[in-house]
Amino acid sequence: MRGRTALAKAVPRGEKLLTLKAQGILTNGSVSDLREELYLVCRATQQIIDFLWKFDKLPNLNQVHQMFYKMLRRQGFRAHQAKQMYKHALALVKSSRRNNGKKPILRKLSARIDKYDAKVDLENRVVVVKLRDREFVIKLLHRNEYLKKFIGKKWYEVMISIDRNGRIWISIPFRWEYDPYIPRKLISLDINLRKVVMYDGRKIRRMNTRFIEALSLKIHAERIQKRYPRMWRYNRRILGRIRKLHRRSRNIVIDWSRKFAKYIALKARKTRSSIVLEDLNELWFNSSKKSSSIADRLSRFSYRKLQTAIMAKAIEYNVPIMFVNPKNTSSLCPRCGAKLVYEHRLATCRKCGLIADRDTIGAMNIYLRGLRSMWGSLGSSPNAPPMNDEARGRGRRKDEPMMHYIKSYKNI
Ligand SMILES: [Zn+2]
Repeated sequence: MRGRTALAKAVPRGEKLLTLKAQGILTNGSVSDLREELYLVCRATQQIIDFLWKFDKLPNLNQVHQMFYKMLRRQGFRAHQAKQMYKHALALVKSSRRNNGKKPILRKLSARIDKYDAKVDLENRVVVVKLRDREFVIKLLHRNEYLKKFIGKKWYEVMISIDRNGRIWISIPFRWEYDPYIPRKLISLDINLRKVVMYDGRKIRRMNTRFIEALSLKIHAERIQKRYPRMWRYNRRILGRIRKLHRRSRNIVIDWSRKFAKYIALKARKTRSSIVLEDLNELWFNSSKKSSSIADRLSRFSYRKLQTAIMAKAIEYNVPIMFVNPKNTSSLCPRCGAKLVYEHRLATCRKCGLIADRDTIGAMNIYLRGLRSMWGSLGSSPNAPPMNDEARGRGRRKDEPMMHYIKSYKNI
């Protein structure tokens, strides 16, 4: 492979994590006791974070153990619980430092419970956790069909939390063997706030997202803030309304992302296709960090959620998935590689005459990058042009299979 950066990379087979998430109800133990336990865990963990935050050079795990283990044990925490707490605190501080972030603040009442302090019985839908000297038995409220998928898989910890409405949530990361099939085709996705555009080499399909709906709720929240520039922070009623709007916005994004992820993973599996997406982690999320308009922030949040959801579903259904370099995916002609001229969202290629809208161009270019990468990895086309953008403009081999697909662009 020539070129500075690879144009595409496939997610490798092997062991991954897939998280079971379910609401639960207590069948043994009281909610107020559980709330107290989670509060104590959060308070002590936050104290460790506050302390670690003062260090210029962070101590290692062994040193952190020396510093906090005995103190936590004296407060009644179980041995493995204490370990989970200082490990969690150290991990949070480390990741925040890496991203030049602020000091982590634990806002959610939650705790991580070590496998030695928990029992998971999915056949009977029961999770038992021990926090200090209390034991809680939680019944999982999720479809059996969903829980069954995880039976027999390995897990190492249980996360438990209580939300603002007093609901209990359990999440358990399971080890999952990802063994994707060999793809016969590709489906590429170009994502924007309004639409997801899909391309399978023959047809373009568009589907409306619900991200615009989520955005309008955020805009509504911002308007309220502007209407009460000083008051909104302190007035409980106004603050409550603003928070509710943000929450609803977030739920719409997460909900839609999950539904779409399932849809596309099943569609890909049915046609033995690989999903091809832009790798937004590398370039786009970081380079646009500075922009803080609501639309940009919501885009970043939504795309990330969607990307994670698609990845999780691909792993679950053993669907191969590829990430391509997002550079120039909408600025170069997918047919001849020349630079496109845009008028609003409509692109024209002055060299070969291609006319298509921006999203279509994006989906096609993502598709082509995926295809080239697949040829490269399968070794079926040793003479394929090198995977860099310059190559697009040069002569093509006659037998490139995507050519007759692209000819149909005018019907789009
Ligand atoms: Zn062209």
